[in-house]
Order: sequence, then structure tokens, then C-alpha cells
Amino acid sequence: MKKDVIVIGGGIIGVASAYYLALQGRSVMLIEKDKVCAGASHGNAGLIANGFAIPLAAPGAAIQGIKMMLDSSGPFYIKPRLNLELLRWLWKFHNACNEKQMQRSIRILLALGQGSFELFDELLATEKIKFDYERKGRLILFSSEKSFASGMADVKLLAEFGVEASLLDAEGVRQFEPNVMPTVKHGIFCSSYGHVSPDLFTHKMARLAAVQGVEIKTATAVNGFEKSAQKITTVVTAEDSYSADQIVLAGGAWSPEIVGSLKLRLPIQPAKGYSLTYKCPPNSPQLPLSLSERKVAVTPMGEKLRFTSTFELVGFDPSVNQRRLEMIRSSAQEYLSGMDELEDETVWSGYRPATPDDLPIIGRSEKYENLVLATGHGTLGMTHSLITGKLVAQIMANEQPSIDLKALSPERFYN
Ligand SMILES: Cc1cc2nc3c(=O)[nH]c(=O)nc-3n(C[C@H](O)[C@H](O)[C@H](O)COP(=O)(O)OP(=O)(O)OC[C@H]3O[C@@H](n4cnc5c(N)ncnc54)[C@H](O)[C@@H]3O)c2cc1C
Repeated sequence: MKKDVIVIGGGIIGVASAYYLALQGRSVMLIEKDKVCAGASHGNAGLIANGFAIPLAAPGAAIQGIKMMLDSSGPFYIKPRLNLELLRWLWKFHNACNEKQMQRSIRILLALGQGSFELFDELLATEKIKFDYERKGRLILFSSEKSFASGMADVKLLAEFGVEASLLDAEGVRQFEPNVMPTVKHGIFCSSYGHVSPDLFTHKMARLAAVQGVEIKTATAVNGFEKSAQKITTVVTAEDSYSADQIVLAGGAWSPEIVGSLKLRLPIQPAKGYSLTYKCPPNSPQLPLSLSERKVAVTPMGEKLRFTSTFELVGFDPSVNQRRLEMIRSSAQEYLSGMDELEDETVWSGYRPATPDDLPIIGRSEKYENLVLATGHGTLGMTHSLITGKLVAQIMANEQPSIDLKALSPERFYN
């Protein structure tokens, strides 16, 4: 039977969109090529980050980033190769690295983050579900004066936008987290952070969507479309074809490939990152941490402790780089005591759907009037999941969106 909406992609963005669409009383089918939460939504750091909203595309970042990214042992890396889409992406990234764009992005990221915080509260009040959600803030640890100075500059910048953060000396750091090593000399505490177990959260959202009547088809890859004039009429998979009035693309890093046959160009690169997850050790940190100099995030998730890092523009490359894993392991011991015998290691890697200006793509396609894009969430897809779902539902209903969508429009890269 023809549905009102087909959502493509069963990551957090797809399931949140399906949930909010079903709440409006629409019939929804979600199509996922693998299983729910098989992509980036599975093993990430789980931070709901409504604080340090400085985009990767900031003044000076192009030169600094490119220098860092050519160091194959560092946390940022670009695999040198002749790939036209990557070159176009880097050029757009370079163009977005200016003061005006950064200021605009901070405002949007803070609005999206605040909208998300409110929706987490609403969800927890109305649905009574649990996914290890805590709102304890985040502590950034510094062992060098140079990186603390850079952290202080970020705090000053964000203060202009109303973000509050406390600068801490060594003793102040230990009051929040007693088990940091003596090498940690400074810290910054930002209270506007929450965290979740991302896999649990995504599965719980999928279950809520199913309770609202969403039909979830897994192991079903979308491999084409039929169209008539400016409308998509049919979504084609290997086994079957499905029709709907409206289509939502939430394919994460695979989004450009999914809509390739529609001749829609989306500047999204897969930005690979790793996580290492352990059983919580006895001295486990109680707060999410950032190990600043190593660019490693540490998140307590129920009985687990997760370390995440690296942003690699290497394409879809499933190989495991042992040097990078070693960097993450050693940083745990460098900053925290009691980390020398971590147990039950799980290694994971995933692909962030990264846009050049570090903002998601949310809005109707200009080319296909019944296609809504909800993709390109980069480093913040968990954070912006609920607000994205809500915005998708508002777009479908032709309601005034709760956030001005101009800066997130799919066409912004080409106009
Ligand atoms: C190391 C790391 C740490 C991160 N930490 C954080 C964090 O702390 N906070 C935060 O907010 N964000 C974080 N992120 C980013 C976050 O994980 C992503 O932005 C988010 O998961 C993107 O969700 P998505 O639903 O768009 O994509 P995905 O979760 O990747 O889902 C896309 C889905 O589409 C499916 N698909 C692909 N092709 C097809 C097809 N042809 N047909 C049907 N389905 C298809 C895939 O199988 C996949 O399930 C992190 C990411 C990484 C890698």
C-alpha cells in the first residue's frame, strides 16, 4: 500500500524523522540497507553537545587543518588522492573558513543544540524511555599551556554568544574528576552538554517509531528511483519498488551515492572516526571528558567507558589503522589514572557525513519537490537528531520551522 512518506536510512536521523512524521499521523516506511543503527550512529561518542559550538570551518582552519591532515599519525588526516568530489569539498571547506561564516554557524549550531535539549526533555517526559541519558556537562583537560590558551580563546568567543564555561586550575579540575594525572594543569567545564549511549538511543527511537506505526524494512538497499517531471514517484530496491507522496533522504555518509542517479550533487564526505569501548574500570570518570591535546573524547555510558577520536578523509575505507588505535589507548593512560588494565575492548569505526561548512543539510530539494534532505550532520548528528526529526515533520506539514532553515538549505553550496 502506498505510504505518505518513505524515509531512507535507519541511523539516528532516519529514525528520529520517522518518529516525528508518524506522530503527525502520517503512514511511514523506513528503508535501511543493513540493520537499524549500522552506520555512524552506532559507536560514536554519544555527546549531546550544546556548548562548544565552534564549527570545524573556522578562520585559519583550512591551513592548520591541511597541515595536520597530512600527518598520517595525527587525529586529522586526508589520504592524498585525486578525487574530484574530495577536491571540490576541500575547496568549499576553504571558502567556509572565514569569520562571517563562522559567526553565522555558531548561531545556528547553538539554536539547533538548544532545540535538541528541549526535545530531549520533552521526549523523556512524554515517552518514559531510558537510554543512559545524563546531563552532567563536559570537562576539557589540558596538559599544555598552548592548548589551554587556545581553549581560553574559544571560551571568550563563545561568551559573546551567551555560552557559559568555567576556567579551572589543577585543583579545580580534580574537584570535578579526582583521577586525572598530575600532567593535567588546566581544565574548562561547560555545563551545556548531555550524553547518551548512542546505539541504545537509536534503537529506542526506532522502537518508538514502530509503536507509532512506522514500518521498518531492514536488509533492503535503495538502489534507484523512478521519477516524473520534478517528482520522485517510486523508490526502487533489489526486491521491490515502493511509492510514497514524500521521500526523506537520511542516508548519512552514503547520501550522495543513494541520490547519484537523480543527478543531485551533495557535498558530503565520509569522515572516518574510531571508538574503543571498555568495561568501566573502578576509577572510571563520571563526566564526559575531552583530552584536548590528543583530540580524544571520553564518555561514560552506563557500565561502559568509550574513547573516540580521529577525523579522516579517507573515503569508505574499512581498514583498521593500528597506530591510531594505539594513540587513543595511550592517551587514556596519559590523562587518567587506573587506565592501564582496561577490559573487554571493542573496536569500532564509522563515517561521519561531513559537509564543508560543518552544518547539516535540512530542507526540501529544489530539484525534486517531494524530496526532503536530512543529512550531512558531521560531528553532531546525535546532538541534532531530535531537532532534525522535528524540522523534517514541520517541513512536510508546511509549518513555519522552529529554526530558520536558509543556512541549512541543500542549495547553499551552489548559489
Ligand atoms: C567517532 C565518531 C564520534 C562521534 N561522536 C559524536 C558525538 O559525540 N555527538 C554527536 O552529536 N555526533 C557524533 N558523531 C556523529 C554522529 O555519529 C553522526 O553525525 C550521526 O550518527 C549521523 O546519523 P545518520 O543517521 O545521518 O547516519 P548513519 O547513522 O550513518 O545512518 C545512515 C544509514 O543509512 C543506511 N544506508 C546507506 N545506504 C543505504 C541505501 N542505499 N539504502 C538504504 N539505507 C542505506 C546505512 O546503512 C545507515 O544505517 C560521531 C561520529 C563518529 C564517527
